[in-house]
Amino acid sequence: MVIMDGREDVMSNVELKKSLCFGCHSNCGVLVTVEDGKATKIEGDPQCPINQGKVCERVGFQLEWLDHPKRLNYPLKRIGARGSGKWQQITWDQACKEIGAELRRLADEYGPETVVFSHGTGRSDEWYISRFFNQYGSPNVAMGGAEMCWCPTYSIESATFGQFGATSTAPNTQCVVFWGRNPAQCGDFPEHWGYSQLFANNPDAKIIVVDPRCTEYAARADIWLRLRPGTDGALALGWMNVIINEELYNKEFVEKWTYGFDQLKEAVQAYTPEKVAEITWVPAAKIRAAARMYATIRPCFMPWGLPTDTIGRNMTQANRAKALLKALVGVNEMGQTYLAPPNAVRPLASMEMPDLLPVSQREKQLGADQFPMHSWPSYQMISDAQSRVFKHPYFLNQDATCTQNWSVVSQAIRTGKPYPVKGMICFASNPFSNLSNSNDLYECIKLLDLMVTHEYTMTPAVMLSDYVLPAAGWLERVQVWGTNGGGPAISGVALTGEAAIEPLYERRDNYAFWRSLAEGTFEKEEFEKYWPWKDSEEANDFMVEPLGVKSADTVGKPVFCPSPDKWHELTDPQTGELYGFGTPTGKVEIYSTILEKLFSEDEAIPYYEEPFESPVSTPELAAEYPLILTAGSRFMPYYHSEYRQVKGCRERYPDPYFQIHPETAANLGIGDGMWCWIETLRGKCLQRAKLDSGIMPQVVSAQHGWWFPELPEEDPWLGGWFISNINMCTDNAVENCCKLSGVYNMKLAQCKVYKAAEAPFNTFTK
Ligand code: SF4
Repeated sequence: MVIMDGREDVMSNVELKKSLCFGCHSNCGVLVTVEDGKATKIEGDPQCPINQGKVCERVGFQLEWLDHPKRLNYPLKRIGARGSGKWQQITWDQACKEIGAELRRLADEYGPETVVFSHGTGRSDEWYISRFFNQYGSPNVAMGGAEMCWCPTYSIESATFGQFGATSTAPNTQCVVFWGRNPAQCGDFPEHWGYSQLFANNPDAKIIVVDPRCTEYAARADIWLRLRPGTDGALALGWMNVIINEELYNKEFVEKWTYGFDQLKEAVQAYTPEKVAEITWVPAAKIRAAARMYATIRPCFMPWGLPTDTIGRNMTQANRAKALLKALVGVNEMGQTYLAPPNAVRPLASMEMPDLLPVSQREKQLGADQFPMHSWPSYQMISDAQSRVFKHPYFLNQDATCTQNWSVVSQAIRTGKPYPVKGMICFASNPFSNLSNSNDLYECIKLLDLMVTHEYTMTPAVMLSDYVLPAAGWLERVQVWGTNGGGPAISGVALTGEAAIEPLYERRDNYAFWRSLAEGTFEKEEFEKYWPWKDSEEANDFMVEPLGVKSADTVGKPVFCPSPDKWHELTDPQTGELYGFGTPTGKVEIYSTILEKLFSEDEAIPYYEEPFESPVSTPELAAEYPLILTAGSRFMPYYHSEYRQVKGCRERYPDPYFQIHPETAANLGIGDGMWCWIETLRGKCLQRAKLDSGIMPQVVSAQHGWWFPELPEEDPWLGGWFISNINMCTDNAVENCCKLSGVYNMKLAQCKVYKAAEAPFNTFTK
């Protein structure tokens, strides 16, 4: 759109672009003013259905970030030793040809499965990653962000309900359960603004918070359950004990639409509120009160909460127990729809082309034999069940639910078993932030033959790369998006954000990166067959083609495909039968036939297991490391490990902090703001103490994502990845992972905390 400045004789070249902000993964609609080809202003777009004109404080520095001196602008090739900081600027063409040649060599000499992919925060339609790997022949396509953030819940709920629950409240929601979720800090601001509106319009709506910390929502909760970290599974089972024994569940729904209620009823008898109080340290009376409130107030809503995805051991069963809490009250009465019918948009899975990967290669996915719940075996079973109702052979995003396992990858790199891992492609990801045990990661990267990164800035992983390709940011690319994180096909809305400007320097967008890599790697005919769209706009057009529109038609004009209420009760015109749920039994699987087949009947009903380290499971260790470490909760204005280079952010929030109770701190001689070591069996890192009477006295909560881009880029500094990074303390031992999914432990450990002699070097705090 060209705007006249009001004078006929002088037409300024000013345009307003309707883009989607990717400052985090909320994708808020924004209006970007572009003057003479330069982005000069960003405001919220009042017409965007996601954020209705609101934007968060991160938008304030997005223009600075667009052309920040620390941004990567040209392809680089390493010319010194790995990590030496010696680079040569090369062309995209040279980079992709050389990387392609190396990928072909690795495939010929060792097999394509020896190249793995490491993922960051999923923020869009990232189907091109799996498409590339499926064509290349490696099943090891998504390690990192996908493995332990949202995707565990996504696959577990898909196995239980046949679909992931929608993440929005009903307009008349009367009760919200924030189980390990704090929308005020976690970056999902449209959700936070929605709750603010909900509670302002209905001051009587109830709030239940489950969190060891006193979050913004805990402070105003009707019931706050301050649980011992990692005991979520026990708490959910305790709630179910109350709900079932007091007959507060939705009998009609449970009888008609669930499978295996009797086995659950029997199993939860062991989890009396008194027993659960012993495990969780939450008083029994509060457990009863919360369960009753949750089960009797309608509509009630429980949004996704990250912490149970990251607890490692017991992760799958804890998330299953949380999912079954929703089943007991009746799916649609929760204000959530578990079987949203797909709209006509091509699903991301069909763009990923899972069928391209031969069955013989699927079987080689690292960790699939030990941990099938998060890999090809479960992906296939869930997809087969879904296909009955969704009419697509694959509907679930492959890159979100079908992942190799980091702990097994680490073993393979070090031992060559079951086969060596030789290459890693790392995309929009700082694995020092999203893979546990950073010391192990550092050594593993050093052993690789090939490390390729597509990134915004020189992160520690980029500093260790062989080839570095510069990434275009959200202001420089078009993006087709659907709400609820499931891609446009299941979200009920297709919406495109336009590029505000052309990519700066030699940056390329995500699709262009993978297409360029494909061109450098595959034979011409194979490349043209699977990468026919010359740019992301053409590819997006193909995705939305069944709607009868071009993606550009949906800029500022979202195509909505709302789900009918209780879709599972409607008749499938193809079969004349009720759709039911997209599970093997067609019902909500309280007893999981998928887990039964993958493992045994012992895993089909949820149960509680202690964390791998805890005062209960490892009392001797707890004597030396007496505090429970919980890590990974988000905090503004950063987004995971991003934005540490932005001056305004660092001046306001310069240092890493951990929360500690004032009494605990006093006993350790620690004062507010003191630099301290946090130490576990794996290692230690430096953060500053923040005294907080809201946190459990036995617990410390450490920030994640810290590194110092102002430090030298050469080894051993590498941006100070080892100084304040909490993953120096987290664990990735295979035996400590969730035994069903292999999800490693990003959150919990026994630790000790003590004063540091001096502060780490930090140019922002000098
Ligand atoms: S919440 Fe903030 S950073 Fe995230 S997309 Fe919205 S405006 Fe951008």
